[in-house]
Amino acid sequence: MHNVTVIGAGTMGNGIAHVFAMFGHQVNLVDISEEALDKAITTIGKNLDRMVKKEKISEEDKAATLGRVTTHTDLKTGVATADLVVEAATENVDLKLKIFKLMDESAPEGAILATNTSSISITQIAAVTSRPEKVIGMHFMNPVPVMKLVEVIRGYATSDETTATVMEMSRNLRKVPVEVNDYPGFVANRILMPMINEAIITLFEGVAGVEEIDTVMKLGMAHPMGPLQLADFIGLDVCLSILRVLHDGFGNPKYAPCPLLVNMVTAGKLGRKSGEGFYSYTHGTKDWIVADTFK
Ligand code: NAD
Repeated sequence: MHNVTVIGAGTMGNGIAHVFAMFGHQVNLVDISEEALDKAITTIGKNLDRMVKKEKISEEDKAATLGRVTTHTDLKTGVATADLVVEAATENVDLKLKIFKLMDESAPEGAILATNTSSISITQIAAVTSRPEKVIGMHFMNPVPVMKLVEVIRGYATSDETTATVMEMSRNLRKVPVEVNDYPGFVANRILMPMINEAIITLFEGVAGVEEIDTVMKLGMAHPMGPLQLADFIGLDVCLSILRVLHDGFGNPKYAPCPLLVNMVTAGKLGRKSGEGFYSYTHGTKDWIVADTFK
């Protein structure tokens, strides 16, 4: 068992804390916001309740899992005894560089420093630390307790030993780790985001409507969600920022974000989290109701 610190208690951080604690690790969950920490503990509790109901775990397992999670607002204290730190704070380069510098100063010398970033260069993050060989990408998918994949991203200096340890730890969480190299978008988003962008371009050009595009991809390609539904689920601002990383990183016009996506983000239509994207969520999130703009 290890001491694992998770930095950031948002959507991904609470899921990452949940799985590590469920598999016996002591978890220190760190966030600058007390409110985010409280919400994370409530969410972990609810998700564990669902697992108890499905008889996947017992009430005792639930209590033991929650008992292994400790919350902190001070990063230095939170990482002081860590064997592994998984950073899952807001997707912002300057913020991540600042957090990694602090983590490097405060975590034990031997600790592995991982990031759950969707798109920021692992090599760039590693370069601000004194231990680039111990810095690695550990890209969990949302929702973390459900999704099997962990994209394990090797930065330019990441050592074989660090990679092997993270691959092994991921397998111990009953995940399937896949090793990839550090280039813009890694593998998951390099393939997913151009597909989502193309779906938006198809809508923008009037080739088909929102429901038609999503139905073609669901029934024709056996995707569980259409690309426009998925874009709303991920957040249109997140999709746009990843496309910009691909566009800047490769300098290839094929990654240029669709002007409709740019407009929607500028207008604050960010998908599910803002109440409207390609679909409207004012009636809840169960039914897919196309937003008025696209009817
Ligand atoms: P989120 O906005 O839900 O949560 C981010 C949390 O980080 C917030 O609670 C915020 O208070 C906290 N935070 C900000 N600054 C901090 C600091 N200095 N120290 C500690 N905590 C701080 O974001 P999210 O969706 O959970 O994304 C987190 C990371 O995971 C990002 O790098 C993102 O790219 C990546 N990711 C997200 C998804 C997804 O579907 N949401 C999927 C894979 C990877």
